[in-house]
Amino acid sequence: MEPTIIINIKNCCGCNLCVLFCSWRRAKYFEPGKAAIQVNKDYKRNRYQIVLDEEKCDRCMLCVAQCPTGTLLKGEK
Ligand code: SF4
Ligand code: SF4
Repeated sequence: MEPTIIINIKNCCGCNLCVLFCSWRRAKYFEPGKAAIQVNKDYKRNRYQIVLDEEKCDRCMLCVAQCPTGTLLKGEK
């Protein structure tokens, strides 16, 4: 079994904490472009989208721990 991130998108408030903490862990500073996870606004559907770069993500689960809304959850596959 491998850890994976389960995304419950309807809960996302677009705070970007996941992006900022991921970039801090990867690059040691807050820069969204350094993160393995991105949060985009889908204006047509009026909701957020999470894009996870599977190559960059090492499943450290820091973003899951920081997400205040339960959008990101730890799972296994
Ligand atoms: S699990 Fe770790 S590396 Fe992957 S997106 Fe979250 S904080 Fe970044
Ligand atoms: S930390 Fe959670 S609520 Fe905030 S943008 Fe990321 S997924 Fe959405």
